[in-house]
Amino acid sequence: MTRLVISKVQLDELALESKRESPNEAVALLFGHRNNEDWVVERVMPVRNSTPSPYAFSIAPEDIYQAYVWADKNGVELVGIFHSHPGKPYPSSVDVKYMRLNEVIWIIAGYGASEFRAYMLSGERILEVDIVVTP
Ligand SMILES: [Zn+2]
Repeated sequence: MTRLVISKVQLDELALESKRESPNEAVALLFGHRNNEDWVVERVMPVRNSTPSPYAFSIAPEDIYQAYVWADKNGVELVGIFHSHPGKPYPSSVDVKYMRLNEVIWIIAGYGASEFRAYMLSGERILEVDIVVTP
């Protein structure tokens, strides 16, 4: 089973971003390495939500480009995409559409970042992914 491995500090950073952007959705790219079933986060990179809204997010192409250049330089790959919801941390229909285009782990914070859940698409099915928090 695929697992998302993330440190407590990184998770706190995502919670802080969520609160900072509230009520709009916060967005971050998670870079690291895949270790068999474990997708290990090494770096959290907050990015601008280019269409600030409590219901959606988007990332400007130039921000994505810069993030990929940085990742390439640092020998890491995109392992996850994070965003926050004001309510339930479940993928919206729009999220599912973009999950098809970005086959990484999607981690969503909900209810004021008090709850985190992670998902992946397997064919047409949405699978919940365990989040392993390291000290
Ligand atoms: Zn969403």
